[in-house]
Order: sequence, then C-alpha cells, then structure tokens
Amino acid sequence: MATAPTRDYYEVLGVAREASADELKAAYRKLAMQHHPDRNPDDPEAERRFKEVSEAYHVLGDAERRAQYDRFGRMQPGQVPDFIDVSEMFDSVLGDLLSNFAPFGRSKRAVGRDLRVDVELSLVEAAKGVEKTVEFDRQCACDRCGGRGAEPGSASDPCPACAGKGEVRYQQGVFRLARACARCEGRGVIPRTQCTKCSGAGLVKKSERLVVTFPPGVEDATVRQVRGYGDASRMTGAAGDLELLVKIQAHPLFTRDGADLLCTVPVSFPQAALGGMIEVPTLEGRVKMRLPPGTQPGHQLKLRSKGMPRFGGYGAGDQVVTIQVEVPTELSEPQRALVQRLAESMNEEVHPQRKTFLEKLRDLFG
Ligand SMILES: [Zn+2]
Ligand SMILES: [Zn+2]
Repeated sequence: MATAPTRDYYEVLGVAREASADELKAAYRKLAMQHHPDRNPDDPEAERRFKEVSEAYHVLGDAERRAQYDRFGRMQPGQVPDFIDVSEMFDSVLGDLLSNFAPFGRSKRAVGRDLRVDVELSLVEAAKGVEKTVEFDRQCACDRCGGRGAEPGSASDPCPACAGKGEVRYQQGVFRLARACARCEGRGVIPRTQCTKCSGAGLVKKSERLVVTFPPGVEDATVRQVRGYGDASRMTGAAGDLELLVKIQAHPLFTRDGADLLCTVPVSFPQAALGGMIEVPTLEGRVKMRLPPGTQPGHQLKLRSKGMPRFGGYGAGDQVVTIQVEVPTELSEPQRALVQRLAESMNEEVHPQRKTFLEKLRDLFG
C-alpha cells in the first residue's frame, strides 16, 4: 500500500542520476540530520521531508531497487514494502556518528531544549565592548532524585504503557516509527513514590547569572552560543544550549552602516554661507569641525576612524556627518527686514547654481 512517489527520488536527495552509493549515502545523511524530528520538534514540514528523503534513500540506497527505479522511474507493484523502518535505516546509515541522536526520541544522550535570551546593548557598549550579566531561568536535573523523579530509596515498577521498554512503536503510512513513551517519559519505570522536591518531574527551575563579554564592534542580531546552559532533558538530564541574541538599541544621534557611523548636523543658513567652526557629536564626546564657507545642504564631512571598531580588530570605520541647512520658519520683524535686504542685494548678482538653472529654463521655454 505504498504511496506513489510525488517527486523524483534523485531530486529529493539533491544528487545526480549517476551519483555513487557513497554520494547517495552522504546526501541522505546530511538531509536526514537536517530534517530529523528530534531537531525539529512539532514541525510537520520537517517530518514530511524526513520521511520523503528516507523513502528516496530506501529505494536508491539499495542496488536492486535503484536499478528498477532507474528503468521504470518508479517501483513496481509488489516491490515496495509495506513499511520502511525509518529507525533501523537511520541507525544503519548514520550509526555511531549519531549515537547522541537516535531516531524519534529515544536516545541515551538526548539533550534538552535550547534557550534564547535577548541581550540589549547601547551603541557605545557595542563600540567599546562590554561585560554583561545575563539572568535567566532554566530547567535543571533535580538534585534530590538525580533527575529520575523517584523519591530516594523508593521502589519502581515497570511502566504499564510501554511494558518497561521506554518507547512506543507505531505505524504511520508506510513508515514504522518509534516515540519515547509519554507515560514514563522514556524511563521505562514508574516510581512508587514521587520525589518530594520535583514532584516526580525530574527537573527543577534554576535561576542562573552569567557574566558574558561582548567584544568591541559586536553587531546587532549576532547570536552568541553558551554550551550546556539550556534546559535539561527530562530523560537524560543533558542540557541544551543557551543562545544570546544581541540587540543594539537605537541611538538618538547615530545610525550604523556596517562599521561606519552616520549622523546629521543642522546648521543655520548664515553658518552655511559664512562657514566657521561647528560642534559635532562623536561616540567619545563633542569635537569641533571647520565648516567651509558656502557649504551646501547634504554636504558630507568625514571623521576618519571615528566609527565602530571593525570586528576582529581591523581598525575602525569612519563617522560621516551630513550637513542639514535649516531655513528659519519664523522670523522676528528686524530679521525679516535683514533677509529682505539680503534678498534685494542677491537679486542683483546671480550665483552659479541659479545661473545654470536659469539657462536651462531659457533653453526649455525660451
Ligand atoms: Zn526530584
Ligand atoms: Zn512507558
């Protein structure tokens, strides 16, 4: 009762039709690892892909079945078995490589869930590097019962749901699968008296404090992995990892463009026309810069190496200052009179940009 293949098996494994047995095995190994349900809990698409690649390898990994598939483009009736034992095939292909990663939940070295914690840094902290104390809670193996959930000294009975095996096998479509027993959580035994500290869960909540160093130039959205600081597995007590996600706060004056820092500095029209010294912010404080006379709006000034340090210690980016020329929205009467006089005097002389503009107007409209 095998279902017809919906996709070409070679395509499913991403290999050429002339791929060698070793190439097929390598392709299956890579894809099976990637889509393995233990790595993608509650992800039906990953489970579907896992079954798809397993089915493809079941056929192409066997010389006789492969020859038949190559000839007919599909398996002949009667040639497809009623089930494919994914667990066994997985074991035989991946073997010792994956001893901590057995099929479908039952594993002597299964690890717990990874945790993710956001760490907010200011732009200055990111520039200079910083030590941060990260606080979070995680599930650890209970120290009273050693994670077994049984009160010390209490006797245990074999689990009635799995007959003490710790796993339950079932069939889904053409696949025979195994899952850790939910009743005993893969332990195979049920304690007569539950541990008084963890109420039989085997895990207790623990508050952690870690001091983590972030190097100068650390980028936004970087993930920093701390091994063994995730939740512990209920079955084995082995902990997953902690992932620290760096979030760099917005700065009121600066935006970051790679290693460069960008900022906009507004100046008045007279300042832009006359030039002079202006005050410019940097991450280290204010500096003075010379504004050339006749500075146009959008003009950019560069402060060399005043940007963010380049990750890995290769110098620093630049700070780019964009000049914004502000036109006053309100004028006092005396100011208005002065601007009026300026306008009258400027009408008599024509400046280069305006001259070009007037010439173009004349060319267009006569
Ligand atoms: Zn306990
Ligand atoms: Zn059980």
